[in-house]
Amino acid sequence: MKKSLFLIVCLALIFAMSITAFAAEDAKVTSKVEVQTLTFGDEITVTVRMSDCAPLLSMGLEPIYDANVFELVSGEWLITGLMSDFNGTQAVIAFLQEQDVNGEIFKYVLKVKANAILGDTTIQTKAPAQNEAGDVVCTPIPTVVTVVCVNHNFGAWTFSNNDVHEKACLICGLKETEAHTWDNGTVTKAATCKEAGTRTYTCSVCGGTKTETIAKTEDHTFGEWQQTKAPTCSEKGSKTRTCSTCGKVETAEVGKLSHTFGAWQQTKAPTCSDEGSQTRKCSVCGYVDTEEIARLHHNFGAWKQVQAATCNAEGSESSTCSICGTTEYRSIPKTSHVYGAWKQTKAPTCSEVGIKTRICSICGNAETEEIAKGNHAYGNWEQTKAPTCTAAGEESQVCSICGNVQTSVLPALGHKYGEAVVTKEATETEDGVKTATCSVCGDKKEEVIPKKAPSAIDKDPQDGAEESSDNRIVWIVVAIAAVVLGGTVIVIAIVIKKRR
Ligand SMILES: [Zn+2]
Ligand SMILES: [Zn+2]
Ligand SMILES: [Zn+2]
Ligand SMILES: [Zn+2]
Ligand SMILES: [Zn+2]
Ligand SMILES: [Zn+2]
Ligand SMILES: [Zn+2]
Ligand SMILES: [Zn+2]
Repeated sequence: MKKSLFLIVCLALIFAMSITAFAAEDAKVTSKVEVQTLTFGDEITVTVRMSDCAPLLSMGLEPIYDANVFELVSGEWLITGLMSDFNGTQAVIAFLQEQDVNGEIFKYVLKVKANAILGDTTIQTKAPAQNEAGDVVCTPIPTVVTVVCVNHNFGAWTFSNNDVHEKACLICGLKETEAHTWDNGTVTKAATCKEAGTRTYTCSVCGGTKTETIAKTEDHTFGEWQQTKAPTCSEKGSKTRTCSTCGKVETAEVGKLSHTFGAWQQTKAPTCSDEGSQTRKCSVCGYVDTEEIARLHHNFGAWKQVQAATCNAEGSESSTCSICGTTEYRSIPKTSHVYGAWKQTKAPTCSEVGIKTRICSICGNAETEEIAKGNHAYGNWEQTKAPTCTAAGEESQVCSICGNVQTSVLPALGHKYGEAVVTKEATETEDGVKTATCSVCGDKKEEVIPKKAPSAIDKDPQDGAEESSDNRIVWIVVAIAAVVLGGTVIVIAIVIKKRR
């Protein structure tokens, strides 16, 4: 049933195609894919879209692709009609009446073959169509996809250019590049002063080489200098030398020669006030050299006195150059005064200095000097305050010239006590008292007489004696004691006689 229907449609199509008619134009059939890059085994769905197409009665679809790349897997209509079919390579659809088919109408699946040819390939879909007016031209819009290899199998690195080396995939031919890995290079041609040299670098990856130019050197191989112009005493000369390698010529100056001077000739004699001059001439070029001659020294004569010096004014003397007459002056120092004998002009005293004077016999200048003070003229020492037994006195002497007084202390005399007298008898129960009196001032000095012993008649009268370090006083005291003792004995004897 389906097959017969298909045949009818086909016949109708062939019939329609045979009618050449002016159908609607501008209809386009695009074949849309989701991915543009594919590899072996990939499947892509191609969606067929119709646009700008007039309503149709029937149409066919035929996927056009490179059979070396793809195989068609399946296809299906996206619209419905009176009948539709897909036989594995072509599809047909027919409608009951003319129908709008703009939009997505069909999709099919293509699979990339395992041995597909790589690179860009075109997919498009032909669409023969008809309506009541006849054939409708539907222009297929091709789509390009690219088939690549995923797991590349690259060959060895090979030299590409001075910058990079490259490797290519043995399957797809894809090329990859990478910068060379140059070594430090070796000099393959040394540079000279004539020619540039070469340094060659080798890539350790691809074995490729590149070269670099080594600039010419300045290391010339010069020969000996050759004088090309001889110098004179007035002009410089020149010389050249040539490099045996590159032929470069170098030129240099040769210094002037020294003049050949004759002897110096004095052209102006020097004096002690002006410089002189002398010249000499080069016998070769005639150049004249001039030189100054230093001034002469003055020739001064002996110093002569112009004005004599005195004891109050400087003198002067002069000396004159015998050549130019220049005179120089200098001073003569003052002379010493001529003094007479010293004369006392004021006598010194014990209180004032004196003055002596002497006079210069030439200028009358007076010179004075002091005379030292004289000694005081003191009189005899005289007591001005008498000393007493207990108080010091004073004596003084007076200068008869200036009245200056000198004083001296007189020591106290000390008391002059007389003989001690018993002023209270000692008893057996009470002490007695002895009293001595100063013959000068009447001062009294008392002494205790010890109590008498009960049975004693006598008592050693020595008690009354005065102790003295002076032997004479001791003897006087002993004598007095003897007299007193004797007197006492007599008194006692008289008393005893009277009582009887
Ligand atoms: Zn590849
Ligand atoms: Zn390389
Ligand atoms: Zn050279
Ligand atoms: Zn000269
Ligand atoms: Zn002079
Ligand atoms: Zn004088
Ligand atoms: Zn005096
Ligand atoms: Zn006295």
